[in-house]
Amino acid sequence: AHRKMARTILVVEDEPTLRETLVDALEADGFRVVAAADGREALTRFRGERPDLVLLDLMLPELSGIEVCRLIRAESGVPIVMLTAKDSELDKVVGLELGADDYVTKPFSLRELSARIRALFRRSEAATATSAPPAVIDLGRVQADLAGHRLLRDGQALPVKPKAFELLAFLLRN
Ligand code: CA
Repeated sequence: AHRKMARTILVVEDEPTLRETLVDALEADGFRVVAAADGREALTRFRGERPDLVLLDLMLPELSGIEVCRLIRAESGVPIVMLTAKDSELDKVVGLELGADDYVTKPFSLRELSARIRALFRRSEAATATSAPPAVIDLGRVQADLAGHRLLRDGQALPVKPKAFELLAFLLRN
């Protein structure tokens, strides 16, 4: 059988105990985990590993989490979850404006974090799935353009009643 490759999560956290806790917990959840201890290392790891999700602490040495978020977002749509300290409302706002997808406030429970991560993966999977189905199905002499609700022959739209097209599209999809 075809086995799905484990998703990779990049954990960016300068506090060693928390970083190790996160790595252990996410590995126990079945993810492949790579870790970085500062903002520069985070970018290097991000570019080298191409993770499926980034867990990003905001208060980091070298480059701040805000900078890292901005730089990652400039080159990728990867889901980003920010780890923010309590009472840093401004950081949250800035982070979300820079394109972070979610945030958790320290101290957080690993269960809560795990739930957020799963939700983000479901969301990104749903986005991929809805963009995936073929827009045009080739029926031999004619093509059904499902997205455009048209029947085509040699690139020309054929006259077809909307109801009839709906029925055809329904049959093709199923
Ligand atoms: Ca920190």
